[in-house]
Formats: sequence, structure tokens, C-alpha cells
Amino acid sequence: MAGDTLKVTLLIVSTTAAKDPSSDASELALKEVLDKEGGGKWELVETKIVPDVATQIQRQIISWADAAPEHINLILTTGGTGFATADNTPEVGKAVSALLHKSAPGLVHGMLAASLSVTPFAMMSRPVAGVRNKSVIITLPGSPKGAKENLQAVLKTLPHACLQAAGLDSRTLHAGGVEKLEADAGITPGGGGHSHSHHHARSHDRHDHDHKHGHGHGHGHGHGHGHGHGHGHGNLVRHTAPSSSPGPLSNDPTLGPSRRNRESPYPMLSVEEALAKIREHVPAPLEVVVSRVDESLPGAVLAEDVVARENVPAFRASIVDGYAVVVPRDGNMRGVFPVVSVSHAAPGDEGAKVQALREGEVARITTGAPLPPGATSVIMVEDTVLRTASEDGREEREVEILAEGVVREGENIREVGSDVREGTTILRRGERVSAVGGEIGLLASVGVAEVRTYRRPVVGVLSTGDEVVPHHRDGPLRPGEVRDSNRVALLAAAREAGFEALDLGIAADTAPGALEDGLRSGLRAAALVVTTGGVSMGELDLLKPTVERALGGRVHFGRVAMKPGKPTTFATVPVPVENVVGGDGGRVDTKVLFALPGNPASALVTFHLFALPALHRMGGVGVVGGGEGGLPRVRVALAHDFPLDPARPEYHRAVVSAGADGALTAASTGGQRSSRVGSLRGANALLCLPSGREGPLREGTRVDALLMGPVRSGL
Ligand code: AMP
Ligand code: MG
Repeated sequence: MAGDTLKVTLLIVSTTAAKDPSSDASELALKEVLDKEGGGKWELVETKIVPDVATQIQRQIISWADAAPEHINLILTTGGTGFATADNTPEVGKAVSALLHKSAPGLVHGMLAASLSVTPFAMMSRPVAGVRNKSVIITLPGSPKGAKENLQAVLKTLPHACLQAAGLDSRTLHAGGVEKLEADAGITPGGGGHSHSHHHARSHDRHDHDHKHGHGHGHGHGHGHGHGHGHGHGNLVRHTAPSSSPGPLSNDPTLGPSRRNRESPYPMLSVEEALAKIREHVPAPLEVVVSRVDESLPGAVLAEDVVARENVPAFRASIVDGYAVVVPRDGNMRGVFPVVSVSHAAPGDEGAKVQALREGEVARITTGAPLPPGATSVIMVEDTVLRTASEDGREEREVEILAEGVVREGENIREVGSDVREGTTILRRGERVSAVGGEIGLLASVGVAEVRTYRRPVVGVLSTGDEVVPHHRDGPLRPGEVRDSNRVALLAAAREAGFEALDLGIAADTAPGALEDGLRSGLRAAALVVTTGGVSMGELDLLKPTVERALGGRVHFGRVAMKPGKPTTFATVPVPVENVVGGDGGRVDTKVLFALPGNPASALVTFHLFALPALHRMGGVGVVGGGEGGLPRVRVALAHDFPLDPARPEYHRAVVSAGADGALTAASTGGQRSSRVGSLRGANALLCLPSGREGPLREGTRVDALLMGPVRSGL
């Protein structure tokens, strides 16, 4: 084979270019790289253009890779590796990986590392590389510039990779060791590589590189049909460290139902472990916003200490209806007094001179009204009688004060600042504004109309499933259809908890890209997305694979030991922030995804149990001091026997009431099947029942209850 050139074919995947080949610019760009930087080793023998249709892509690649004995050494594709909804071609990666006999993660790393040094948006690209028969196949981005950069990143290692794939034995190839390989490839350690990150990564890993190299080639190279598992190092030279993050555990949907996992590969976590994962991975609140002090404030967590701007009261005010007086030295107020003025609870004229009250005079005053200057106390109207009135009988002239004993100065008067003193801290950072109204009232009373709070996460709610139809759709259900009860229920629960909730609609299971698109737009618009459905073990349960494989998300747990809600899934997904002005190419936000089971009871229970504490946390609960967020926990006594699940702890929907003796008791809402919507009707609590095989928990037993709503009065 030595001396021969390596044959390259190029498949341009582009619906536009398929219609108008002259619109493609990547062929020229790639040919130039091969010719000028390929050391004369490459020959582009054929270029084809197909629209982005999986079957057409696959047909062409097979015709090249399976063309024995004249096989193609390197098959390049361009286009369809992006992440944006604008390029509707996410099929290329799937189409290609379905054909690979061995995958080549090292090449993928190499390309990504190179692209990442150019732009962080490379995180969104999803290249695929591997071997089919004797051909190395690599997917390149659609933009000529991106395609060129990616090819440059791996070009120097490709001759070696191709020769190995073609079946040249490793001893021949490796005589002379890595140094010779690198010299042949024109790579000098610490220099000569194309991209920065590329040779940075490799010189860094140089140590165990030599070591790994020898081993990596020991098993089964060169025979095309390898083990066929997804993580094989194949026969390719690996120039990056093995990824420390485990690969996706989810099914590869392109493999079809026969090759899906038949048991969930996700470890089963306890509820406590799951909650710990949420605490660990949910991003802390980053943004502080200015919020108006109004009825939209409940639920917000303060991001600042709030200081009183004013005194309450701002003026000396009467606490009662009665008569302002000037108390004589001896405190004896008995006698008949002329009523010389009137003070109502009304704003006075700023400049108006009010006659100072003198000893021996009284001024009629109402509750909350300012005291006339000079007044030292207020006598309640109940302690007086009218003595004389004006001629028309409408106005008081004299009143008699009946007060017994000594009257003291300051009685029935609220002094300036006696309720809240100007300058004192009235609320602290980290405090949550309740819907009771107390904190809002306090803020309003001292003239604080705006406060700094942590930005509360917006929640998006997405239903999934081909069978799911809008709950308000007219007409009877067709066979198999199910009304979407989850979406309205969760939107209502999220809003009640104080969060803005976005309706993301319904995503079908089988419409290609529907779930991916729904999630992508949801994750762009909301900080936390809740989906229901599609997390069980069915072949259409695409949620985990979509999150891991299409969105580049990380699933932190995919199974929880609980009833209902076992398949509850929690993931975080990196999402680039769009339209960032200036900066070096944009920020990437960590968004949160809860994929809840489709069954209505499971969905609502797991929303309250898992999504709510995450929302609280993202909204700033617990940033200062304690306060974990989530539902409050109380001890309750069982009102009757409760059967236990033998294997899983149960979150039993219940009504908690306070009895006459003040003790809290809990009664079941009835049938607890996870599909039973009605099991949450009237429920205000989730009872935490342990699993157990020894019969039911007896009436009177004390258990924990998580309160979702106010305790009922059992009186
Ligand atoms: P899945 O988790 O997709 O396997 O769904 C489990 C069960 O929940 C199935 O019976 C679904 O039809 C049902 N289901 C899924 N989504 C919804 C929804 N939005 N509203 C009501 N039921 C649903
Ligand atoms: Mg489903």
C-alpha cells in the first residue's frame, strides 16, 4: 500500500446544495486542505450531494464503505452536525453512527478541541467519527470554515488511522514507536499541530499516551467487524485523554427497539440521594433583579438587607378616638374643658400654623390623626361626656373628662418611629417574602417600593406523547387518545408556588425532532423545564436519549426508589445565551430539566417532591443560612391502617387535619394507582411511608408528612 495515495470521498449533506450544487463552497475548501496540507497523501476521488434525508445519506456511505475490494479510505460528510433549530438536519450524526462498526471518540475529541479553541459554540456541534469496514468516516460541519478547521485538526493522524482500518498490521505500523508515527505524520510534540488546544492536549497527555498506545492496538484491530460496542477505541490513534465523564447510559434510538436496554441502566437512587443530587447540581441564583413591592412579590427571596427609609409613624399620632390634652403636673385631668380644635386623620397643610394646645384646653382627635403641637396625652372618648354644644347642636363646645387617678404623658400616643425607626434593618438578605402579606406590608409602610431579589426561575411545562391531546379539545377521544391533564395541573402548581410558568405545549414521540425542538426552545426560554411522559422503558421513551445525545445534557439520576415516580429523571443541560452583546462569544447557562413520568399522580407527586425544591433553590431559598426549600415536613398520626409497598417507599396522597386536641392526623385519599388523577383530589400532603413486608402500618402510627397545602381543620 505504501506509495499509493489514500482515497477520499466527500458527501455534501444539504437540501439546498442538492437543488443547486453551485451553492456549495465546502468541497473547494476541503479539497484545498487535502491538497495543500495533506502531504500529497490524499486524493479526492468523488463528491456527491444528497438532501438531509437519513436513508439517502446511509445509502451513499454504504456504497462507498462496502465497495470491496476498491474501498475508500476516508469518507467525509459535511453539514447536519449542528445544534440549532434553524438547520433542520440533526439526522446526519444518527444516520452515520448507525452505520459504524467502530466509533472513534478520539477523532471527535480532536475536532471538538480544535473548534472549542475558536468558539465555545462548538459545544453545540455533534461530530461523529468511526470505521465501517476499511473506511474511516468523519462528519464535518456544514460551514466551509468549520469543515476546514475540523479536518485540519485531525488530518495528520488520518493516514495512520486509515492504514490501520485498511488492515495493515500493527507491528509494521508501529515499528519505531510513537516518535516515528508522529514524525511520519508530521506532528512534533509541543509544536506543529494545527490548533492550540490540539497540541496542548496532546503534550499534556504525553505520558500515558505511549503507554496506552501499545495496548490499544492489541485487540482485534483491522478486521472491520469489531465488537460493535459504542465505546471501542477502535484502531485509531488516540491523541486525547479518555473522557472522565461516562458516556450516555440512555438508549441509542437509532438502534431500534430490539437493541434498547431491557433494564434501566441508571442506578436506582433513594429519594434522599436524589434530593442531594438536586442540591449539588441545580445552579445557584446568579441574577439579582429589582422587583416592585406589590402582589407579585410573594415567593421572592431578598438579595439585600432592606433598611427603613422612614419612621413609622412619621408623625405623633393618636391611638384612639378622643381628646388631645396637656397633662398638668399633678396628672389630674378631671374637669370641664373647651374643645378648641379638631384633628382628623388627614394630611395637613405643610405650612399651616396649627395653634399650640395649652393646659386647660382639649382638641378632638380621631384614631391615627396627628397630635396638635403641645399635646402630651390623649383621653379616650369613652372617658368623657358632652357638656355644651353649639347653637345648632352640631358642634361640641365643652366636654367633661371623667378620667380617674393620674393621667400620664404619652398615653394613647404613638411617638415618631415607635413602630419602625428610620434606618433600622427591617428584612434581611435571604428572607423569603410570604403571601401572608406581612413582609409586603412592612416594606410598603416604610416607603420601600422596590427591592432587590434573586431572579426567580421561569418554569416551562412540556407534555410528551403521541397519544396526548389538549384537554380542551372538542369531541370524544379516539381510541388510544389521552387528555393532557399534566400540563394544566403542573402550570397551576408552579404558579401557585410563586413562579412564572410557560406553557410549552405537547411534543409528539414519533414526529422526528419534535421532542428535541420542544426541549430546545423550552430550555432557551425557561430556566427549568418540566416534562411529563417518555421516561419509562418503552421504545418511544426518548427523553433520556434526547437529553444526552442530542442536547449534550447530563442525566444526574434516571431512577428513584419510590412509589409513584420511579423513572423520575433529573438532568442539567448547557445552553448558550443568545444575543450577548460584546464579550468573547457568549455565555453558556446551565439549565435544569426534570423529566417526570407521564402518569398524572406520579407527575404531580414528583413535581412537588423534586422540582419544587429545585425551583426554590434557583430562586435563592437557602442562599443565606438554612432553609432548604421544598415542602414543609410535619409529624402526623395515621387515621387508619395503611398497607405498605413491599419494595419501595411510598409517597401516599393524604388529607392532614388538625383535631380538637391539636394533633395532626392523616387519612388516605383512596386508590393510589399512579395513573389515578383523582388520588390527588383534596390531598394536602404526601405521607412518607416506608416500604415493608410485615403487614400494614397501624392506625395511630406516627409518620412524616410533606405539606402541599394548608392543614384542614378537623373541628
Ligand atoms: P409514559 O411516561 O410516556 O410512559 O406515560 C405513562 C402514562 O401516562 C401513559 O398512560 C400516558 O398515556 C400517560 N400520560 C402521559 N402524558 C400524559 C399527560 N400529559 N396527561 C395525562 N396522561 C399522560
Ligand atoms: Mg409516552
